[in-house]
Amino acid sequence: MTARPLHLLLLLGCVLACRPNPPQARPTKARDPYARERAQMVREQLHARGIRNDAVLDAVRRVPRHLFVPPESQGQAYADHPLPIGFEQTISQPYIVGYMTEAARVSAGSRVLEIGTGSGYQAAVLAEIAGEVYSIEIVPELAERARALLAELGYRNVHVRAGDGYAGWREHAPFDAILVTAAPDHVPPALVEQLAVNGRMVIPVGTGEQEMRVITKTPAGVVEERTMDVRFVPLVRSDTTGP
Ligand code: SAH
Repeated sequence: MTARPLHLLLLLGCVLACRPNPPQARPTKARDPYARERAQMVREQLHARGIRNDAVLDAVRRVPRHLFVPPESQGQAYADHPLPIGFEQTISQPYIVGYMTEAARVSAGSRVLEIGTGSGYQAAVLAEIAGEVYSIEIVPELAERARALLAELGYRNVHVRAGDGYAGWREHAPFDAILVTAAPDHVPPALVEQLAVNGRMVIPVGTGEQEMRVITKTPAGVVEERTMDVRFVPLVRSDTTGP
């Protein structure tokens, strides 16, 4: 009888020694040196400023923002400001990305339109939550770069098109959410048309001084809220024939 505890001990020793490594946990951390910085960014820049939608916070926690900025800016990828991405354009401040995603009430299954793909970062955050994301970028080189990166990262539900997003993307309308990440001087009428009933559009409007507007298409009509002062790059037009 006295041997039993020894057997148990040996068995326990073997169980501990023979236990396989926890699946993937270590390699994943090692491959993502920015995971801690990203979690801190979500806490201090998004949650602390009032973003409470768990799907949004989780999405931002997952997307490797440092891969969407130029290599020389990687060390600043999680800082509290926008960064240049070439072609005189910028990747938005992380808080703004979280704010717009939350304000648009994007949820699983949403069909989303983004105007201004830029780096593709906002599109990736949307793709983590939504069903399908359609994104239009007027600078062909940026569109191509974002498309390649999003594909490489495995985002199969993002569709990037090079072109002027002022007229939206009629073939895939109506959209449950529309995010415009460059500022026009008025709300493009085609985007309001392409919004689904109960859909929401988040759009900065103005030249110089800009304000964020959240536009909801209710069954009774279009409701517009002005939420905060912002600064985005201007929405440019590929032709001047439109309104
Ligand atoms: N959402 C981007 C940041 C956008 S910066 C990100 O996550 O990185 C704004 C982008 O809008 C720029 O890349 C600019 O080229 C693009 N843009 C400006 N006018 C546009 C238009 N009419 N149609 C589509 N894209 C436009």
